[in-house]
Amino acid sequence: MADFEVPETREFPVIPTIMEGAMAHSSPYLAKEQFQQQLGFPGDGKLIDGWKETFLIKLAEMLGKYRSLQVFMDICVKCGACTDKCHYFLGTADPKNMPVARQDLLRKVYRRYFTLPGKLFPKLVGAVDLTEEVIDDMYSYYHQCSECRRCSVFCPYGIDTAEVTMAARDILAHIGKGQKYSNEIIAKVHKIGNNLGLPEPALADTLEGLEEEVEEDTGVKVRYPLDEKGADILLVTPSADFFAEPHVDGLIGYGKVFHAAGVSWTISSKASEAANFGLFIGNYENMREISLRIREAAKDLGVKRIIFGECGHAWRVAYNFLNTLAGPWDFLDPNYPVPQHILEFTSDCLDRGILNIDKSENDHMTLTFHDSCNIARASRIGSFPGSQFTIPRKVIKAVCNNFYDMAPETIHDSTFCCGGGGGLLTDDLIELRIKGALPRMEALKNVIANNGVTHMAAICAICKSQFTKVLPYYGMTMDQIVSVHQLVSNAIILEGQGEEDENETDEAA
Ligand code: SF4
Ligand code: SF4
Repeated sequence: MADFEVPETREFPVIPTIMEGAMAHSSPYLAKEQFQQQLGFPGDGKLIDGWKETFLIKLAEMLGKYRSLQVFMDICVKCGACTDKCHYFLGTADPKNMPVARQDLLRKVYRRYFTLPGKLFPKLVGAVDLTEEVIDDMYSYYHQCSECRRCSVFCPYGIDTAEVTMAARDILAHIGKGQKYSNEIIAKVHKIGNNLGLPEPALADTLEGLEEEVEEDTGVKVRYPLDEKGADILLVTPSADFFAEPHVDGLIGYGKVFHAAGVSWTISSKASEAANFGLFIGNYENMREISLRIREAAKDLGVKRIIFGECGHAWRVAYNFLNTLAGPWDFLDPNYPVPQHILEFTSDCLDRGILNIDKSENDHMTLTFHDSCNIARASRIGSFPGSQFTIPRKVIKAVCNNFYDMAPETIHDSTFCCGGGGGLLTDDLIELRIKGALPRMEALKNVIANNGVTHMAAICAICKSQFTKVLPYYGMTMDQIVSVHQLVSNAIILEGQGEEDENETDEAA
């Protein structure tokens, strides 16, 4: 099945014996010139002329602009608390996948050119010259970090390796070494509006198909509107929701909740993508440009609120940056937060008792929940500390009878990344993705063995796609990953649902 060894799962996590260079060969494809240019970067996968000067100028600019980066470069005391916290280290045993070692790839260069001891006595302070070998190492290992922030939870100084990774990737793109996967996707969003390159007619067709499917299933006309001017809510959701399993079942669920709540809503063909890969490449200009599509769509359509669907990193960007990158949102209804998460909306509907739920519709499943890193550690859903952990579980328990959490050290803010986040969800990194999923797979297997769990729910498009791919490598099936709103969709009973069937039965009698 794989031309590499899939790690064995164990009952208890074991810190691996170090294997120097175990993942040195892992490096994603480089972006071609066309995709570098479209994003405002030079080069074509090769180092540009004067790359060294450009690297140092860019690093100096970032150190000045982002105070946190300067602090992170200076304050690591090498305490080692982060060394065994990264899923990529636990799954690959490569010591360069220890968070502190990953940071050091940039820190060593910083020390050499930006600190006095590094300039005078480089060997004494672990400073190194900037060479092509150093760049190759950076390109490889900064693309073995999913920007998940788990290590930062355990660092006594709060050093955020994700931020170092983002800075390094942005610098690399500026010297000609951009990543093919992320850059091509961003180019598609700039040109067509979504990651998949799905044009407006195809989108309209897909949504029409969904309406027919839901009507066939329930007998109720639930709308999935596109570009509907004057709707109250603009739904911004990952494009995977438009067709792929289990994502699309989540979209069906959002539509049913909106229908039951009696609100008007629409999707926009201009902002038909919640994902914002500007985060992954660490480039705020691209992140801003992608965010501005949402502003334009909201203005054009005259909506009052913006709600995001199930997508982890999209929510991380929206929650943290939407206001600064694309605000002010003074044309929206001030009674609602900007942005709002679909789970906040559904949770509120459940609290107000306006959803008719039959939990037994999910009785064929026993659920667990995977906290997505971007929501668990890089944003929040709801208004109180920790509500990003309680709200999804509350919604799942409101629509399912059988739920068990995985081991406490693997959930909430200690959650393990799915292994495919941060711009790594590409087949050229499949070995890394499979190995990086090991800690999550171990925790899942334990809850399957101990509690009879059959399915894992998630609220992130990347997690869902990654698990669909990874589960079979660990002896499970791809349909064991489900959307949270798929569970809501199964359990919700719409007004008039099943009436046609009852009438038909009456007539037959
Ligand atoms: S941010 Fe996540 S992937 Fe990156 S080094 Fe830290 S734990 Fe590993
Ligand atoms: S936990 Fe923080 S201070 Fe300690 S080695 Fe890791 S990054 Fe450095």
